[in-house]
Amino acid sequence: MSETKTIAEINAKLKRGDAVVLTAMEFKAQVRQGRKWRVSDVDVVTTATRAIMSGTSAAIVMPLPEAGRGAKLRNLWLNGVPCNTGLSPDSESDLIDVIINGTAESRDHHGRYGGGHVLRDMIEGKTIEVEAETTDGKSVYAKVTIDQFPFARLYATRNVYQNYSAFTNFRNEQSYLGMPQSIFSSRPMPRLKSITTSGSGELSPLANDPDGHVLRSGWKVLVNGMPGTVIGWGTRSHPGGRNLSLAADMKGMDPQFMGGARTSHGVEVTNGIAVPIPILDETVIENLTNTLDESLEMKISDISDRQPVASATFDDVWKDASLKVQFRPDRCIVCSFQCAAEYYCPMQAISWREKTIYQDLCIACGACTANCPGGAFTGEDRPPLGAIGAVPALDTKLPVSFRMSNRRRALMLAEMLKDQLVSGAFTLSGSDLSLEFEQKEIGAEGTSP
Ligand code: SF4
Ligand code: SF4
Repeated sequence: MSETKTIAEINAKLKRGDAVVLTAMEFKAQVRQGRKWRVSDVDVVTTATRAIMSGTSAAIVMPLPEAGRGAKLRNLWLNGVPCNTGLSPDSESDLIDVIINGTAESRDHHGRYGGGHVLRDMIEGKTIEVEAETTDGKSVYAKVTIDQFPFARLYATRNVYQNYSAFTNFRNEQSYLGMPQSIFSSRPMPRLKSITTSGSGELSPLANDPDGHVLRSGWKVLVNGMPGTVIGWGTRSHPGGRNLSLAADMKGMDPQFMGGARTSHGVEVTNGIAVPIPILDETVIENLTNTLDESLEMKISDISDRQPVASATFDDVWKDASLKVQFRPDRCIVCSFQCAAEYYCPMQAISWREKTIYQDLCIACGACTANCPGGAFTGEDRPPLGAIGAVPALDTKLPVSFRMSNRRRALMLAEMLKDQLVSGAFTLSGSDLSLEFEQKEIGAEGTSP
């Protein structure tokens, strides 16, 4: 008879302090050594991802007494980023509701600051500048911090993709030449000279639960370090290419797992999500055992039309990969009036003047290693002029020029969730609401973060 466990039984073990909790990487390391896991061996495996996640917004409630009670707002900007409002200040409290979209772009810093940046600035406790216009033409200015918000919640319409394509410029089509921007690159890509990737491979939450066997509506997860909940499948989910819709309160989030980013197609937003996988039955064990970097297919698509042109595995991206990037200023050849590595860094994590990488911002994407002709940026402990990796495909080795998933911080999140489970601070939610698809299969798989 096959073994099974219930959520209640696992929660009881977590509360007693005798549950066995492993990160996905710890689980898989033993799979590679030949271990055949059984349901009774382990209770929870923690998975995580940290990456660019376009479908992110936030709803906040903030005071704006400067608008005057009863006035109706027509437009509102936070640090120059346009937001949705239009509600009258509350007649009792001067509070207004504001929706901010993670990919909204600041009118003041074209392509370099947007909704994701505002969200991180809020979490870091920075002062946010508010500008609003009322319907009767009055302009209102104020300064606020997150401490003044009675409500601040992050909503994900589509995060945590099950799988992603990698991208290269294969066809060099006219349409691409005419519109060389893409959210999948930090700058235009010459033909067959580089590859951009996304996805945390065997650490990925949905890769480890590919059919939604354990995930439930109401399932508790960590969103940027704070407890959050799965609402349902995300807006572009389809069998084989699932993603999640999530919600989590923003106060208390850890800024190192989130924030704004910049691609060659404008501003983006990043999140870090950790998901516990309860070991309920043999199917869960089988899914975790089979989800290894070397067995996970990574389609390679053309960046112009997003159609697959080749295939690799996540092992090609992550095996022995540098998870951190270092700056060696002694190798700088002062190549231009503007440091190319600094200019194209999607996180604005480089200060050439200060000769440093701000590691709390850096997502180890490797764009600097690809853009610095002097070889001053390398994967940690890698030789000069070494990019952060190369993927064998299309009869060549394509250097990774933009790795959109940050496995180092995903690992940190998986560890954080493990620690919280082991300490009893985090228990599993017990909802019976399974996630059901209501739509027919759509589009190409996993090409849109
Ligand atoms: S891109 Fe590299 S070589 Fe050029 S200025 Fe920047 S650090 Fe120096
Ligand atoms: S790896 Fe380089 S380009 Fe990428 S975020 Fe870090 S410093 Fe910036």
